[in-house]
Amino acid sequence: MRRLAFYGGTFDPPHRGHFAIAEALLKEFDLDEFIFLPAFHAPHKTRTKPTSAYDRFAMLCLMTAAAENMSVSKLEIDLPEKPYTIETLPRLKALYPEDRIFFVMGADSWRDILTWREWEKVLLMTDHIVVTRPGVEINTDHVSESVRERIVNKKGGSAVGAGPNIFFSDAVNIDVSATDIRKRIKEDDPSWRTDVPPPVANYIEKYQIYT
Ligand code: ATP
Repeated sequence: MRRLAFYGGTFDPPHRGHFAIAEALLKEFDLDEFIFLPAFHAPHKTRTKPTSAYDRFAMLCLMTAAAENMSVSKLEIDLPEKPYTIETLPRLKALYPEDRIFFVMGADSWRDILTWREWEKVLLMTDHIVVTRPGVEINTDHVSESVRERIVNKKGGSAVGAGPNIFFSDAVNIDVSATDIRKRIKEDDPSWRTDVPPPVANYIEKYQIYT
């Protein structure tokens, strides 16, 4: 049984916070593979022009090219409609029936989890890893008792019972966000370059992704 992590997000652009999370969780959770899962952007549903899935996929591939145990999945961006996580997880389980799947999210996604379709079912369907993010407190008051009793504080913790758990990891504490990077690029503030891997920065400039 392999241990696979799937990390969903828009990755617009992928940044050093995302990469640090992959590196840290590969070690902390003894993972065989860490797979970035870029989300579908429904062009007709957004007001501002979204960055195409091609570009976000390419940037993720550049970021992970030299990392042996990291890869990028086309699963969500290949679909005709944006899937909900409740639809993606059964697909992943069907694709990897022999493996243990961990679904990764940041503390802000955990905070907003009640807005996810069938969130309780999502959380009890596979293992999850919630990663700390500066400025976002990790609370557990908002989730139900059945979810709360599946939570494991990774520091010194081991899995609870049989079945999926929700692991809290504080292995990464990096204050960087994609929104802030896009803002700095637009403002011509060169500091943005240090927050994305060099090949991604070159790609952003070469194809003028945000300008
Ligand atoms: P934005 O600033 O536009 O919201 P983002 O930096 O959060 O973007 P996403 O692609 O939306 O990037 O992030 C994907 C996932 O990674 C989300 O679950 C988010 O919570 C998490 N994440 C992103 N950056 C960090 C970070 N610095 N620390 C912890 N988690 C993060």
